[in-house]
Order: sequence, then structure tokens, then C-alpha cells
Amino acid sequence: MLKLFSLTAANMRPTPILRAALFGLTSTVFLAGCATGQADAAKVITHAIKTDNPSQTVSVIYPSTDLQDAVDKANTLEPKSTLVVFDIDDTLLTATEFFGSDKWYDWQRGRALDQQGVLVDTTDSEKVNCLFDVLGMVFEMAVNKPTQPNMADIVDSVNNDVVILTARSGAYRAATMRELARNQLNFKQKSLTPAGTGYHYDYTLGGRTAQVSYVDGVFMVQGMDKGIMLLDLLKRSEHEYASVIFVDDKQHNLDNMAKALKTANIDFYGYHYNRISKAVSKTDVANASAANSALTQLLEGYFTDRAELISQGQCDY
Ligand SMILES: [Mg+2]
Repeated sequence: MLKLFSLTAANMRPTPILRAALFGLTSTVFLAGCATGQADAAKVITHAIKTDNPSQTVSVIYPSTDLQDAVDKANTLEPKSTLVVFDIDDTLLTATEFFGSDKWYDWQRGRALDQQGVLVDTTDSEKVNCLFDVLGMVFEMAVNKPTQPNMADIVDSVNNDVVILTARSGAYRAATMRELARNQLNFKQKSLTPAGTGYHYDYTLGGRTAQVSYVDGVFMVQGMDKGIMLLDLLKRSEHEYASVIFVDDKQHNLDNMAKALKTANIDFYGYHYNRISKAVSKTDVANASAANSALTQLLEGYFTDRAELISQGQCDY
């Protein structure tokens, strides 16, 4: 996967590895080292330099296993003109159980991989009815834990404006805010809108309409393109930044952000946070099937009307 970036000496301070690559290549593909210098030091990410592009926009994505990497980068840039954006699931917080987790969702959608990187087949009988209803129920029941022990301290140390940008639906806001608070995260003071105000609106893109919301610093975009939605939020809230630092565990979110920010001429420093394993094991699958059976049993035994609706595919979310 290629990331395009171009730069000038005026607004880019290449890392040593980037610098070496820049001097060694002109208009070609190179391998840039990671920003962590830690466990994933051997990992590489592919970038392409377009030296013939006169644009001055920086667009770069680093793999990372430590949220501190992004904060360190933010501290090298001008604080007021740099926005720091964090995803939630498998970036700041992660599920304590497989059932209802981010990788469970991917498994339900038939795109999970096992430890060998092979696609895990999801049979029809393993798929839950009304996926988003079930997800909402699990969000209410489950708790989240930090992705790394010092997560809250790192996030708290950010000197910049911060946006929390999640693909979760606003229908899950109560459970989401509860788990952020439980994990010592509160972004009210960092909100781009005055205290007590925010946005709830419909946004249509590619024939799909999502109900998105931005409240208390947490932007919930219901699976919409995170790059386009961030630009929309900045426009609505009348904020402008020269640089955006974005940490997310999903490559496509980073790609979308890179694409959107490029159109807006905003420098982009992406961090592909891969500390949380996405591998789905046979034990995970067995546990998820058992949990879903138990949930179905509970509904059928004690919440018969909802059970009936769900079994008929009459989903509320
Ligand atoms: Mg995520």
C-alpha cells in the first residue's frame, strides 16, 4: 500500500530514517522505519515520494505500538496549529472479551484473520441477527480496558486540541462515554465547541446517510469516512489547523484521513497503532458462539418481544 508524500525543508523535519531515504531516492518507493524504535522496530511501511509534486503538504504514516509516538511528534510541531486525533477501539480502549470486540465485529463481517494471517471463515449460523442491536447490548454490558497501561496519562499530556474520532454510532454514546470516563478519559475541556454544545446531524456520502454526533470532544461518525468527517467538523466548528496527527488501528481510516487532508492542504502525520492483536482464534469463535446462544436464550426467555423482532430481522440500529 503506498502513501504519497511530498515535502519542503520549511515544514518537515524528517526522521533519521526518512532523511536517509530522501537522500537515497528521488521519485520512487522506499521503506521507512517505524517511529517507535521498540517492539515493532523491524516493521516497515511503504511510502512513495513524489518529488515532482510541488505541493508542500506532508503526508506520512508510521506504524506504532506506543501512543507516546504520536504525542512526541505533536510536541515537535506548533501546539496551536496542530490537532491530535485519536480513534477509540483498539487505539485508546480495547474490549476485555472477544464477544462484541472490534475483532469480533470484523469476524462477523467476514474479514477477520487468524494468527497466520489467513481469513477466518464466518458461517451463516455464526452471524448474529441484527448485528448493530447486539453490539449495542454488548456495549452496555461490557467494559473496556486501556490499550496500554499508561494510556490515560499519555492522552492527558497532550498540549494540543484533541478530537476523539470513532466509527461507533452515536446510538452507543452513553456506553462509550461511560467507558471513556471509567478509563480516566474526559475530553470536555478539549472540545472544539463551547461546553454543553455540540452537533447532531445527518451526513450523506456515497448514497448512505449516517447520523453523526460531536459532543464533549467525542465525534461518532457511524462508519463514515473519517477524513471527510473530520474536515466537516473543522468547517462546522470554524477551526483551522496546519497539521493533524491521527492515531488509529485501521489502515483504511488512515488512508481516508491522508486523502482528505491532502485535499485541504493540511499536513498529516498518521500513526497506525498495531499494539492490539487482531488475530481471531478457534477459542474466540467458540466463546462468541456460546455467548450469542446465551444472549439469544436470555432474550427468548425474558424479553420475548425484542427476541421476536430480532429473529425477524427487524433491527433498531
Ligand atoms: Mg479502532
